[in-house]
Amino acid sequence: MDADIPYLLLTPGPLTTTGSVRDAMRVDYSTWDIDYNQRVVEIRSQLVQLASSSPGYTAVLMQGSGTFAVEATIGSVIPPDGKLLVISNGAYGNRISQITRCLKIPLQELSYSETEPPDLDQIRTTLKNDAAITHVAMVHCETTTGMLNPAEEIGKIVAEAGKDYILDAMSSFGGIPLSMETFHVDYLISSANKCIQGVPGFGFVIANQKKLEQTKGFARSLSLDLFDQWNEMEHKGGKWRYTSPTHVVCAFLQALKELQAEGGVTQRHARYLDNQSTLVSAMQNLGLHTLLPRALQSPIITSFYYPDSPLFSFQQFYDELKKRRYVIYPGKISQADTFRIGNIGNVFPADMQNLVVQISQVLDTMGSSPGEVIKSNS
Ligand SMILES: *Cc1c(COP(=O)(O)O)cnc(C)c1O
Repeated sequence: MDADIPYLLLTPGPLTTTGSVRDAMRVDYSTWDIDYNQRVVEIRSQLVQLASSSPGYTAVLMQGSGTFAVEATIGSVIPPDGKLLVISNGAYGNRISQITRCLKIPLQELSYSETEPPDLDQIRTTLKNDAAITHVAMVHCETTTGMLNPAEEIGKIVAEAGKDYILDAMSSFGGIPLSMETFHVDYLISSANKCIQGVPGFGFVIANQKKLEQTKGFARSLSLDLFDQWNEMEHKGGKWRYTSPTHVVCAFLQALKELQAEGGVTQRHARYLDNQSTLVSAMQNLGLHTLLPRALQSPIITSFYYPDSPLFSFQQFYDELKKRRYVIYPGKISQADTFRIGNIGNVFPADMQNLVVQISQVLDTMGSSPGEVIKSNS
């Protein structure tokens, strides 16, 4: 761990960035200046290249956290007479439904439990039986649990049914290989502070350009009008509408360079997989178990059950780990007591190993290590 950071964030974003990404924020740029707008142009082009290898795709950046980009997309691409099917198995999927309701857009939901993958046959049937549905939205990696949803298989079903597909790839884009073409995605949403390893401040949408161009005037919001923002960026040399997060943009361009230097998405994915498997095997050696079976688990974030001990307190566990310079994440599901550990950011397998050494010591001092239970039983 770098000596100049107080602790390692093992969280799904904001996450631990490199010193060079943080350093890229040292210059103040004017939003009217070519030096700055040229960076925006460069970022948009690199994002499209990361998501696709064929022409016909474009990128829009949007101020705000990731949810703002989701809301901009839902509120801007569905026509006035459109209807959205949301496939959900966690808090972020439910948030898409909440946005849709808030915008008073007709909604159909297929909801599954937080540990259950979506049912492909049910999706097929729903699309067949409800001709009013024009768009389908789903989360790729459900950060609530760490589950990786079958976005490619579902993309195929959506394309066969002739609907438009919106994918919340917030916590997977840049860390898990995917492509707009093979996943049949029309609108892919992500943000600066997840697997690209930038800092928070904007989200972005990679879109099928022909489809986006047909959405003029659909937006149900002024500041979150995706078409209008795209139109400005596309035709005014990288200009945003309204003040943009200039420092965040500079950090993001540096983060994109570092993604390339690491070997692109394939290599970053390999590192995250390595982080995740190192973490899980070390935790299992301590007697701590994952919420999800391996087959459903993404390399992005991992949920663990609390140790089976009445002496365990999450707050105390969290505080003790923070003193030891590791910040973990609380659980977010209703069905079980869990905590989460992020596997993304500028973190490496050795960090995961050190973390689990600290976890073992903290559980020992709390008297709640799974090993203690075995000892007292024998
Ligand atoms: C992080 C995240 C979001 C956006 O959350 P914000 O707090 O608004 O940045 C949306 N969907 C998923 C799956 C996420 O992981």
